[in-house]
Amino acid sequence: MGKIQIHKFGGASVKDSSAVRNLAIILRNRLRNNCVIVVSAMGKTTNELETMLSLRMEDKDYSGNSTILKEYHLAICKELFPEDHVIFPKIENYFILLHHEFNKQVSKENYDEYYDRIIGFGELLSSRIVMEYLCLENLLVLWQDARELIRTDSDFRFAKIDWEKTRLNCQSQLKPKLDQFPVLTQGFIGADSKGRPTTLGREGSDFTAAILAASLDAASVTIWKDVPGVLNADPKLFADTTLFEELDYQQAAQMTFYGASVIHPKTIKPLANASIPLFVKSFLNPDEAGTKIHSTAQSVSIPTFILKKDQILVSLKVTDFTFIEEKHIHQIYEKLKVLKLRVNMLQTSAITISIVIDSQLFKLEKLLEQLNQDFEIRYNEGLELLTVLHPDMEAMPSLLNGYQVLLEQSTRNTIQVVRRRN
Ligand code: ASP
Ligand code: MG
Repeated sequence: MGKIQIHKFGGASVKDSSAVRNLAIILRNRLRNNCVIVVSAMGKTTNELETMLSLRMEDKDYSGNSTILKEYHLAICKELFPEDHVIFPKIENYFILLHHEFNKQVSKENYDEYYDRIIGFGELLSSRIVMEYLCLENLLVLWQDARELIRTDSDFRFAKIDWEKTRLNCQSQLKPKLDQFPVLTQGFIGADSKGRPTTLGREGSDFTAAILAASLDAASVTIWKDVPGVLNADPKLFADTTLFEELDYQQAAQMTFYGASVIHPKTIKPLANASIPLFVKSFLNPDEAGTKIHSTAQSVSIPTFILKKDQILVSLKVTDFTFIEEKHIHQIYEKLKVLKLRVNMLQTSAITISIVIDSQLFKLEKLLEQLNQDFEIRYNEGLELLTVLHPDMEAMPSLLNGYQVLLEQSTRNTIQVVRRRN
């Protein structure tokens, strides 16, 4: 029996018909039994579904958005399939199911569970389309519902993996299929012990690839991206970038911690624990080496830039004429934990705690509600958090040109700046 390989294709790699064709070309020489293909939703589908969810929450009409989303998928299919192909009624069906879910009761209380029942439709649609297209191209693959494999707790939208059950599912259900055929499944989605759909956090498909790899004792994971590999900065935001030929797990994990979006933060740990190498490669130049993340990589310390947008800076001032103590920080972290908000940066002074968090629907409102008894709170929205690892001090000022700096923090190897465009 050959070694299992996992290939993960994100939204950009299936965003239109030529992208799907390209995926088939990439797989043509690589596909064999013992391959698992993990796909995300097509293009910006997940964002569109989130928009529809927001409209639904505000009791506004989302049917126009739904029609656009359906037309988007149908248009891709029209370019890939003959007119009478089974994919067309299948897509119609998925949208009927989607509307059925949308019509169910929702409130702020059950929102996360409701969200998880709906948001995974992007992955269901794309995995169907890609599977049918590969088969049409004589690349036979089996379709697998990831919710039958990835077992999680019931922490909707941020579900934690039940590693034991997931491993059992993978070994008993997936492995026998893989002995015969490649299998295609969805990233991002799982199910709890009652079979209710859950999700692993936005952009979680990379994590799915790592979970399956660990659960199947795979030989490698390859993530196919629209960049040449892991770069020292996002090429969409920075002009000059350098490719890392290799990274060790720790370096890669550190970059994802600060928000490097090339790999989902949770992806590295399961792979590192099982010493499974991770390749990050370009779907535009599939024969190029890309980046290999593994345990024996040479460490390199070139300046690395990570930008997180849509940040909120919250300043909490104690009002009882005491100074900031551990209990204040504890109190704030407790609330953040309940709201499932992560602190991207923290700074304390004598009477103020400043935290930087991602902007998320309802969350700021709830946080303020819960803390405004004990703190005087001010906040700024629409900010950027720039993290520079191994900074070149001389180049720093140019990064802040045209920006107002609201908060700054540096350690020996890291500078973090919260900035706003002037
Ligand atoms: N489609 C999901 C998202 O956009 C998962 C992923 O892309 O990894 O968040
Ligand atoms: Mg995506």
